[in-house]
Amino acid sequence: MKKELSNINNLLIQYFGLPVRKKENPDPLDILIGTILSQNTNDKNSFKAYNNLKSKIKSWEELISIKTFNLEKIIKVAGLGKQKARTIKSFLKNLQKKRDSISIDYIKKMNNEMAIEELTRFKGIGVKTASCVLLFSFGRNVCPVDTHIQRILNRLGLVKTKTPDKTYKAIVNFIPENSGYTLHTNLLRLGREICLPSNPKCSICPLEKLCEYEHKIFFDKFPKTENKFFLLDEI
Ligand code: SF4
Repeated sequence: MKKELSNINNLLIQYFGLPVRKKENPDPLDILIGTILSQNTNDKNSFKAYNNLKSKIKSWEELISIKTFNLEKIIKVAGLGKQKARTIKSFLKNLQKKRDSISIDYIKKMNNEMAIEELTRFKGIGVKTASCVLLFSFGRNVCPVDTHIQRILNRLGLVKTKTPDKTYKAIVNFIPENSGYTLHTNLLRLGREICLPSNPKCSICPLEKLCEYEHKIFFDKFPKTENKFFLLDEI
């Protein structure tokens, strides 16, 4: 599995290039809340919601006292406002109760497995959100799995799993050294631009030779699209 992931990573770098990472790791709570906002919407809308939120509050502590209804209005552009407002508020309240402070820096001392276990104990925090915190804020060598990455790795035949969480667990111990960020980012691009849910553009796919998908689509020409705005790179 490690060799295959390494091969996939190299082919994607050849095709998309090496994604550029920020020099400083963003605050883990910023990433966690940004990831909640990004659920079931595109990165542009979740970035607008994130910026709205940041412009209205001075600190995450302040958010605890904001009424859920008002928070819902602030983040409305990201969709599912009520659900996301509830999740964010309940997370912050539980964190304060448990740790007596609004910080998840204590997670930094834990290994990957323990950190995922600890974060997913909070209501509304799943493996994807927790693994984004590990990758983007703590610089761990993990590859968070969303629906795009789930689809691609199953089509390739690398895993046979029903959910992104199961895929994350199947690959987590096989990510080649120092490649979690690159692999994650380029797989997302592949999922948004080429390996689409329906009508994948297999004739221009850099992974075509490795792929076991039975319903590949080959056309001479596909319209070129580019979609490399990633919320978590902007935080
Ligand atoms: S060959 Fe087609 S199905 Fe396979 S990964 Fe590439 S785009 Fe997706």
